[in-house]
Amino acid sequence: MSQTLSARSLEFAQTLVRMNTVSSNSNLELIDFARDHLAGLGVRSRLTYSADKKKANLFATLGAGKPNGIIVSGHTDTVPWDGQDWTVDPLSAMVQDWPQEGLRADGEVERAEPRLYGRGSADMKSFIAIALANAEHFIESDSPYAVHFAFSYDEEVGCFGVRELIADMKEQLVKPVACIIGEPTNMVPAIAHKGVYRYKCCVRGKEAHSSLTPQSVNAIEMAARVVNKVRDMADGFENSERRYEGFDVPFSTASVGQFHGGIADNVVPRDAEFRYEFRNLPTADAAAMQREVVAYAARAEEAMKRVAPDAGFTFETICEVPSFLSTANEPITKLAQRLSKEQRTTLVAFGTEAGIFKSAGIPTVVCGPGSIMQAHQPDEFVTLAQLARCEQFLQGLSITRDIR
Ligand SMILES: [Zn+2]
Repeated sequence: MSQTLSARSLEFAQTLVRMNTVSSNSNLELIDFARDHLAGLGVRSRLTYSADKKKANLFATLGAGKPNGIIVSGHTDTVPWDGQDWTVDPLSAMVQDWPQEGLRADGEVERAEPRLYGRGSADMKSFIAIALANAEHFIESDSPYAVHFAFSYDEEVGCFGVRELIADMKEQLVKPVACIIGEPTNMVPAIAHKGVYRYKCCVRGKEAHSSLTPQSVNAIEMAARVVNKVRDMADGFENSERRYEGFDVPFSTASVGQFHGGIADNVVPRDAEFRYEFRNLPTADAAAMQREVVAYAARAEEAMKRVAPDAGFTFETICEVPSFLSTANEPITKLAQRLSKEQRTTLVAFGTEAGIFKSAGIPTVVCGPGSIMQAHQPDEFVTLAQLARCEQFLQGLSITRDIR
């Protein structure tokens, strides 16, 4: 029998969705809410702040004193909704049946499915909310495992916050035995995702009247050569990389997302810039991909410098989110399967903090309510049925005696 979602979990999920924690904003309202709730239960939180102090990670141990702990992790920020076509207020956190009355198929017995709507409902405030709403279960449990709540900032813009959180955890000599990240996987444990490596390339050329091209360095044309290199690499991955079945696209991809340059038709452009990314398979080396681009640019630069010594390329890292690769046999995967009553495991197409936790030596699994199909979309929602499964999962975790 499926359990229904507790009123408090739903209320907490609605409370968090109503807070505007788009990555460009502060997340302190949410962090304060979590900290105050935990403080009311006698649990102290450690906050680690961004440089401008407008954002914070929260780390709290429930069941302190136990020798081993399992991290329950989520990010507090969301993507924005500017320019998206929403039919509901993204901050409304309204619960609505689907299909709505009147839209239900005629004559058929169709059960309406209640959904929670709003930005962050699926990705991934509901998971954090349910963890908080069930905090007493972790505190009062006689399970040998403590649970660490780890709620980060700036995940959506490059997984920046969690690095501070992990560094602080290491400084405090906290050594968790496993980590569960509640990104939306429809409660199916996910054991791998690709990396996301993004860079910006600025090209400096030499300006001239467009009738005097030999005395100039055309920044757009030079940029285009490197763009072409990125494209050739993408073709190379598609044509010859060893496939990793289970991903929507079973090979690494590369893509240029933005290109700017030029001021007039008759001016050889001095400046151009473009941004590109690699999404590497867990079995492929993204750093090597970037080195290949930089080396290619360095060769092109030699000719540029003969015309103008200060011409050339500069590269800037936008984000480097490592890929994640675990196995179905990992104890934390098996525990997640038992708690979610799932035989399956899955691979996901999106980046998460899992690779960062894993590289810190913490076995990790990604498993949370809702679908990535709704994440980042207009009218984002999560079904209350998924949230109920998540609550059952976390309550099961609170009484776990053995993670093997
Ligand atoms: Zn997310």
